[in-house]
Amino acid sequence: MYLLISDEFLAALRALPGDQGDLWGSGSDRGSVVRMVEPTRPPEAVRLGRWVPQAALAEDCGKDLAAGRLVLVVDGEQPRCFVVERDKSLKPQPFEQVKLYTDYHARVEGLFDPTHLPEKRVVIVGLGSGGSAIASELARAGVGHFDLVDFDRLSVPNLARHICGLSDLGRLKVDAMADFLRNASPVAEVRTHDMNVTTDPDRLQEIISGADLVIGATDSEDAKSILNRVAWRLKIPAVYAAAYDLGFGGDVFLALPPDGACYECFHRSTGDMFSPPDKVTLDYGKTISQPALGLDVRFISLIAARVALAHLLEGDPTSRLNGYSTNWVLWGNWPQNGWIFNQPLMSDFIQIDSDALCPVCHPDAYSQAYLGISKEEAAEEVKNLLDSLPSF
Ligand SMILES: [Zn+2]
Repeated sequence: MYLLISDEFLAALRALPGDQGDLWGSGSDRGSVVRMVEPTRPPEAVRLGRWVPQAALAEDCGKDLAAGRLVLVVDGEQPRCFVVERDKSLKPQPFEQVKLYTDYHARVEGLFDPTHLPEKRVVIVGLGSGGSAIASELARAGVGHFDLVDFDRLSVPNLARHICGLSDLGRLKVDAMADFLRNASPVAEVRTHDMNVTTDPDRLQEIISGADLVIGATDSEDAKSILNRVAWRLKIPAVYAAAYDLGFGGDVFLALPPDGACYECFHRSTGDMFSPPDKVTLDYGKTISQPALGLDVRFISLIAARVALAHLLEGDPTSRLNGYSTNWVLWGNWPQNGWIFNQPLMSDFIQIDSDALCPVCHPDAYSQAYLGISKEEAAEEVKNLLDSLPSF
């Protein structure tokens, strides 16, 4: 048996009332690998034996346990583990002692302060092939808190591109991804929201409120538009990712309120930017559900995760993940007639300026320009109109 015991698991046992109790953990490969590492009992945990004080070893400790069960002594300087033999004697069981949290972050040391990200909260709207990969990368980098928003379930066509697999078929994507993230990172705390943001913007506002970052990875342009309005109003930065037809390329846009361009500004300005001669449709978002290789979508997801991380780490003087100098990153998987890249695997960086007449980030100027009245006057007129309607 290869046994792993974490410092965090031992600390959790020592904090329990009493001096002994059930020992639980999880195993793999017909019991040849056994883990006692998570400080809170995971759903799949099974009873493995008993934890006891040092003094209990002199008694008939383990006599009532079946052969193969474990006895863990936790109150000495060094924890000790024993396995119950057929004759009820205790045979020392070697184990590897690990530090779950600090060892998990060991691979990012030197890149940034690993204590920075566990405090951050990210809301991800859309947990398809793009959003699931972004969530996975952020969790593995050490982001501590996630709110996952989606109403869709994992279907067979999803499997070729999604982070989750066959055993998750039919599950809500938010639930499948919550389990995935908890399994990927010991510090990930995940809340799930089975909802359509286009029909419940008030609830979306509650979820987003107080977040450090939101990510729009949904395949609905309407959802992205509502996300933009809500996030901008709350002054919460947002990353929007999109893949294009057949995965030939994609882009990532970062909206930084209150001074930058919002997603509406981005949409207005890039709508004029592309008019390819062969009429390639740059239908943001929708194309993710069209045929595309998972790996081509993954490139764009990785860039989105990278942009998100750089933003989350702003203010960390040790961070080497500098932010980008522009708010829009374009990525080309392969050349496409009429597009900007003539070689595969190319990127470009473009700054999108705020639109002075944008209805989302400059509502006053928009109202004045298009309605000839202020935002407040427009709101008052709408209210008066509604009041004048007969009630039914
Ligand atoms: Zn705007």
